Amino acid sequence: MKPKVAVFPGSFDPITMGHVELVKRALPLFDKIIVAIGVNSSKKYLFSLEQRLQWLEDVFAKEEKVEVAHFENLTAHYCQKVGARYLLRGLRNASDFDYEKTISQLNAIVGDGIETIFLISEPKYSHFSSTIVREIIKGGGDASPFLPDEIKIDPQVS
Ligand code: ADP
Repeated sequence: MKPKVAVFPGSFDPITMGHVELVKRALPLFDKIIVAIGVNSSKKYLFSLEQRLQWLEDVFAKEEKVEVAHFENLTAHYCQKVGARYLLRGLRNASDFDYEKTISQLNAIVGDGIETIFLISEPKYSHFSSTIVREIIKGGGDASPFLPDEIKIDPQVS
């Protein structure tokens, strides 16, 4: 049987506890999970690609089934390139669902049957996103409650 490979795509700007929890819960479902940063040249990121990749490497260093990567262009084409038949995504609320539903249907067409597997986030991780974490960091606040231990960002004292 072919190995079950999933791609967990995202910006991970930065990776949060919400992302980590999702990957950990998905591990029993797959033989390999590729946590992959999708690089969109028209999008502005707070942290460099190198920094985000390093954080992913650090956070998943002990997880043998997790690989870290990055890709450009379409997620579905990247899945085909690496032999992944599954995409992993998280659902926090109804707006996530509306957005993700369309994207998953598109990916199934463009990726010739790629299935998106959704996990509902744990309640304690449902109320935040990388966007909120970036706002805290930009505002000089302490984002550590939302970040894995491997990520250290000094709050700016203003
Ligand atoms: P994107 O730029 O594609 O939105 P993100 O890095 O923000 O990428 O998120 C990647 C995936 O992780 C998405 O499926 C998103 O729903 C999920 N996710 C983000 N934050 C959380 C969280 N706090 N709990 C569970 N899932 C989350």
